[in-house]
Amino acid sequence: MPPGVRGGLAAVVAAATVMMGVGASQETPPSTADVPVRIVLLGTGTPNATPDRMGPATAIVVGDTPYLIDAGPGVVRRAAAAAARGVAALRVANLRHLFVTHLHSDHTVGYADLILTPWVLERAAPLEAYGPPGLRAMTRHLLAAYREDIDIRLHGLEPANRTGYRVNVHEVAPGVVFRDRGAGVTVEAFRVPHGSWRHAYGYKFVTPAGVIVISGDTGPFDGLAEIARGADVLVHEAYATEGWKRREPVWQRYHAAFHTPGSKVGEIAARGGVAAVILTHQLTWSATEADLVAEVQRTFTGRVVFGRDLDVFDLRELTGRARVPDPGSSGQ
Ligand SMILES: [Zn+2]
Ligand SMILES: [Zn+2]
Repeated sequence: MPPGVRGGLAAVVAAATVMMGVGASQETPPSTADVPVRIVLLGTGTPNATPDRMGPATAIVVGDTPYLIDAGPGVVRRAAAAAARGVAALRVANLRHLFVTHLHSDHTVGYADLILTPWVLERAAPLEAYGPPGLRAMTRHLLAAYREDIDIRLHGLEPANRTGYRVNVHEVAPGVVFRDRGAGVTVEAFRVPHGSWRHAYGYKFVTPAGVIVISGDTGPFDGLAEIARGADVLVHEAYATEGWKRREPVWQRYHAAFHTPGSKVGEIAARGGVAAVILTHQLTWSATEADLVAEVQRTFTGRVVFGRDLDVFDLRELTGRARVPDPGSSGQ
């Protein structure tokens, strides 16, 4: 990297703020009781380049505000597709909040896309990116990699705004990392065991329509049942044990440490008393989708959905719950 570039680009990556109350409004919050909350699966894939599954990315859309979890390959175009299908909040220039679970490439290859493409499409606000340690360095290096592009757009004929490519990076520790009182949204990060990763997070979203827990990539994690206690929806990664049994031992060891079998997902969902499970980041190998769903249903009697790209779930419709549960209660 040429001298000076690092310092110059560092200036566009805002100082870290591990924070409480970001974006919090001091005014009396408007009623959020009827605000629609939707879960949109933008990418349900894995590192496998499966043509009909983009890389991991989920959107939680609260009213007109989308919150993205992870930025796998294809995230921006999937958001555009969802907007074209009627989730207008996911129009590209409206993508402003990102929560990164961990820095595995399948979850972050779309990060540069999410920084730059919405800016080109006239997003003026900087991207607010939350995630584990390492996110700031990744951001700085991506901006350095695209320095020529950014310079041309800023200083050439293109009428680009001067702010929309910037990123406010928030390297966060487990705990409440975001709160918007006006919108009635709180986001909590929690640590998950993802093989040898030092920092891998899941996120719990408390919204006006209910509580959504996102596992991120995780090995079998009993503690998640407590974290998800009373949640409405658990969006969990999963692999099919029947397929796993026919993998080579070296891969079996890897998957057993880095990911979670469907049977364990069911167990966690049952113990946590959640209303519904959405499976994502699925690995079935030689087993079938039905095998994986059945494996979860062996212990969990609530609704189980095998997620697909561009699935849209209205939170209240999905769970059949009309009221916000107390996150501290059993939720049943
Ligand atoms: Zn992954
Ligand atoms: Zn991973």
